[in-house]
Amino acid sequence: MDLGIAGRRAIVCAASKGLGKACALALAQEGVHVTITARSRDLLEATAEDIRKATGVTVTTAVGDIATEEGRAAALAACPEPDILVNNAGGPPPGDFREWEREHWIRAVEANMLAPIFLIKATVDGMIARKFGRIVNVTSGAVKAPISNLGLSNGARAGLTGFVAGLSRQTVRHNVTINNLLPGPFETDRLRTTMEGAAKANNRSVDDEMAARRATNPSGRFGDPAEFGAMCAFLCSAQSGFMTGQNVLLDGGAYPGTL
Ligand code: NAP
Repeated sequence: MDLGIAGRRAIVCAASKGLGKACALALAQEGVHVTITARSRDLLEATAEDIRKATGVTVTTAVGDIATEEGRAAALAACPEPDILVNNAGGPPPGDFREWEREHWIRAVEANMLAPIFLIKATVDGMIARKFGRIVNVTSGAVKAPISNLGLSNGARAGLTGFVAGLSRQTVRHNVTINNLLPGPFETDRLRTTMEGAAKANNRSVDDEMAARRATNPSGRFGDPAEFGAMCAFLCSAQSGFMTGQNVLLDGGAYPGTL
């Protein structure tokens, strides 16, 4: 299927590796010119070159922390009028809420709730005026089924989800949709890091922990980031204009509910 977005412009945040990179690559494969962001320059530039070589689209980079005003300003300077915005950032660390102070909560809320909200604020009116916009927020399966040691993530992402539920019903009339894409376990560096604590607690290696987790997923495996990117590209497509305010879970069937 031709997604009908060739020649469009996208900002994809936190995209030097992992799920953000997969989203940027999938959009670029559809002919979308992408601006990708991350904090570390070297990997970001290498990823940009990979995407250019693989697709031939224009890839620009914006180095910075997307949780800060400066980081967001750099992304918007590189792509002032995006048609597509993919919000993403690193996830907060796991732990026990008794150990988290105000600054831990502020960091999580800034990265996983306020950064997407301020980028939406900066771009959504232009999308409305141009009568096309697709916004995808990378959140987490933890929004549907909170994960006990990821309280910072559960809390901050729930705030974003509530905000999007309201705004997405106001923008869709103008062909601007806002949806959330919820990863379950995908084979990325972040997943490996989150397994380290569990491996320690279960007194086994990270590789053994990961093998055990793969086996318990109904699919018998972790997700491939390319599968995540493909769904992101569809949510950004011309065809997805009737779909807004949704929380789309990609987890290999791990969530057991019907809704
Ligand atoms: P990853 O493989 O660790 O990649 C994270 C990417 O984001 C890197 O490019 C990193 O580059 C960039 N980044 C992190 N913090 C940033 C910031 N503040 N500003 C700009 N760029 C930033 O992680 P991932 O697995 O793709 O995860 C992406 C998101 O999905 C996270 O929020 C994670 O919690 C969530 N998630 C992932 C899974 C999973 O199984 N993978 C499951 C549920 C939820 P720099 O370090 O250079 O900035």
